[in-house]
Amino acid sequence: MSGLTIALSKGRIFEETLPLLAAAGIVPAEDPEKSRKLIIATNRADVRVVIVRASDVPTYVQYGAADMGIAGKDVLLEHGGAGLYQPLDLQIAKCRMCVAAPAGFDYAAAVRRGARLRIATKYTTVAREHFAGKGVHVDLIKLYGSMELAPLAGLAEAIVDLVSSGSTLKANNLLEVEEIMDISARLVVNQASLKMKRERLQPVISAIEGAIR
Ligand code: ATP
Ligand code: MG
Repeated sequence: MSGLTIALSKGRIFEETLPLLAAAGIVPAEDPEKSRKLIIATNRADVRVVIVRASDVPTYVQYGAADMGIAGKDVLLEHGGAGLYQPLDLQIAKCRMCVAAPAGFDYAAAVRRGARLRIATKYTTVAREHFAGKGVHVDLIKLYGSMELAPLAGLAEAIVDLVSSGSTLKANNLLEVEEIMDISARLVVNQASLKMKRERLQPVISAIEGAIR
């Protein structure tokens, strides 16, 4: 395949990526929210988009099934980044990763007295490093979604999750008790593709770079 394959996830990443791709002269032929197609053609015969789960984007790019993709820093940290060139912070899909706990739980006091905490999260790698760095003892409980439920159901004392407006936390009577890091989406490129398809890839990367906010 000498053309370019771009891996994207549906939802906010796809929507916020459209203007960046347009700046590179690439316009998807269909909306993945309306179509059930997983491979979407574009206005350019040599460029196609594959629609994958957000957390699968780095894997497609790592193995060269996609030449490039767009993935959140959260997803990239959990993946590890092997085989990926990460040239650009796209400044889209911005949010932050934080520790949140029920309003009635004194997280700071629990940390001060050295309590062992059960933490539910999808982001076990980032969470493990965060708590190890603070010297907080935790049992990490891996979840795949709806982390907010865990403290309410008694599964964990606190969660590590992504927050933007904070309205989901608020709706579930949770408070942000610690910020871990700012998150945004990154352009990722397969390292072999960058060498083999540089003539096709570099103009796309440069155009996207020029279009960042
Ligand atoms: P899936 O829905 O397939 O389980 P997901 O929840 O990770 O995966 P999205 O909700 O589309 O998929 O999130 C994609 C990326 O957008 C995340 O990896 C993160 O970087 C970013 N993101 C997640 N939540 C928010 C948010 N509330 N505001 C802004 N960006 C966010
Ligand atoms: Mg989501």
